[in-house]
Amino acid sequence: MTAQPQEVRCKGLGVSEGVVIGQVMRLHDGTPQVYRWRIASTGLEAERQRFRAAVDLARERVQATKAYAEERLGRDHAYIFDAHLLMLDDERVSGDIEREITVGHANAEWAVKVVGDRLLSLYSEIKDDYLRARVSDVEDVMQRLLVALSGARDEPRDLSEDAVIVAQDLLPSAVAELDLRHARALATDSGGWTSHTAILARGIGIPAVVGLRDFYRRAKTGDRIIVDSNRNEVILHPSEATLDVYQEETAQPLKPGPATGLQARSELLTTDGVEIILRANVEVPSEFAGVAKYGARGVGLYRSEFLLAHRGVFVSEDVQRAAYEEIAKLAGDDGAVVRLFDLGAATLREGTAQFPEPEKNPALGLRAIRFSLRNEEIMRTQVRAILLAAKTGRLQIVLPMVADLSDVRRARAIVHDEATKLAKAGRDFAEVKVGAMIEVPAAVLMSESIARAVDFFELGTNDLVQYTLAVDRGNDEVADWFRTLHPAVLHSIERSLSAARTAGIPAIVCGEMASTPAYAVLLIGLGATELSMTPSAIPRVRGVLAGVSAEDARAIARDCLSCSTADDVEDLVRERFTALWPDLFPSASLPAPRLSQNRER
Ligand code: PEP
Ligand code: MG
Repeated sequence: MTAQPQEVRCKGLGVSEGVVIGQVMRLHDGTPQVYRWRIASTGLEAERQRFRAAVDLARERVQATKAYAEERLGRDHAYIFDAHLLMLDDERVSGDIEREITVGHANAEWAVKVVGDRLLSLYSEIKDDYLRARVSDVEDVMQRLLVALSGARDEPRDLSEDAVIVAQDLLPSAVAELDLRHARALATDSGGWTSHTAILARGIGIPAVVGLRDFYRRAKTGDRIIVDSNRNEVILHPSEATLDVYQEETAQPLKPGPATGLQARSELLTTDGVEIILRANVEVPSEFAGVAKYGARGVGLYRSEFLLAHRGVFVSEDVQRAAYEEIAKLAGDDGAVVRLFDLGAATLREGTAQFPEPEKNPALGLRAIRFSLRNEEIMRTQVRAILLAAKTGRLQIVLPMVADLSDVRRARAIVHDEATKLAKAGRDFAEVKVGAMIEVPAAVLMSESIARAVDFFELGTNDLVQYTLAVDRGNDEVADWFRTLHPAVLHSIERSLSAARTAGIPAIVCGEMASTPAYAVLLIGLGATELSMTPSAIPRVRGVLAGVSAEDARAIARDCLSCSTADDVEDLVRERFTALWPDLFPSASLPAPRLSQNRER
């Protein structure tokens, strides 16, 4: 009889709601380590054979991915894999790799790496944009070969109904490969409340626990697992007794919540008549349906980076244009705000032409608007695609991570220049409004002058907390210091909103803060009237905001601004909210985890 493995409980941070019992599907980040070892003369033929078998396997996998992408995203999105197949069949490339094995007595992995690196540096120096764009294809193919050589399974695409994705981190690029409709829950070693995994889990409405440290190492594909997002916990190999408890719990019929059914896009007023507009943040296609379902007033933030997952940084104007047209259609009359790529070393793979060396501190590195201004062709292509798509619906552009007026001026000049060129070329396009993300302290301190130079503000509170408090939003070691209700953060929000008001421009708060009812009330108190959030959060936020008065919220916010610590703000909020609105905030609904988000472990 085989021994039953011991039940293992791991604490993390529950970043969405719910409990799921399922089976682990381990997802590796796809980058095998490559070492060199010497192959003896007698083993060279076998090594070449091993390489050829890997090519065959990689080819099969590319074909499968192509079929999958065709089915899910359409033919236009699958053509890229034809280039991968051509590269795998290119005899010059395989000849070079085999020569490296034969002459250098190198193992096949090393030979692939050497030839791949050589190709990458050749391609990245090419002046022609189209050919240079092949860099990411070369990387993709080399990675496929390395995975095939390592004997690892390729990334799973056909998830079974009860797959619980367990990963070290879930990078946006992995998301493109997954059929998230079948992912029942997520569990990752890293991440906090505002990490990409967390935002995604809430977006598609599945339970997720992040910040599990070394859980990935312990879990194996196929293991039984319980993900309990409500209790900040995952349980590996649950005992029969634990399973009984959870089975009973998960069998309870769900309380009919406000989040079910099609929600009306009706006007939302506070009890004293202040109109509040709730918009949707979207990124992956599986979130799109929520825009209509939960009655969002358009798309307040489209995180466009998803377009690049899978394809590298050079996505053609046509592919982008089609995507932005889809977003414009989805948003309808209320329009959509497309954020220019918020890319950096943390989102792009190392070794790309843009990041030949890893950055020491990517959060402070060549990211977001800086990346776009440095890689102007990428930015110009994106801007052109948005201007062209704007002909079919209401679109606006928002610039991520600007620090001051010079970032804004440079970016606006490019938008203007592209519009002029399109006009000269007689192409059909529409002018768009340009806004600034306010998410770094410099932008807050310069918000008065920035407000005069843009059409609207978007407050990215996730990064604003990270940069104001100098706390990495994805590092669970410092999660105790990630205090959304820190007075410094509240002052920053208040100042930015007031700068927008003085300049007469709208301001949307689009960080995760907006999707938490208690925080949303405080945001209204600080002067916000437009919030953008993951669509599934809209009904709950709407329900709470319809029951509070903006004047009361303002009085509480004023008192919060005179607090000295995040603890004081939290105590004050808890006390005042439960006294004023006991039905909306019974004391039990304001425990520390819900209030301090990233803080609770
Ligand atoms: C933010 O920083 O609050 C934001 C909305 O953008 P992201 O989470 O994508 O950085
Ligand atoms: Mg941000």
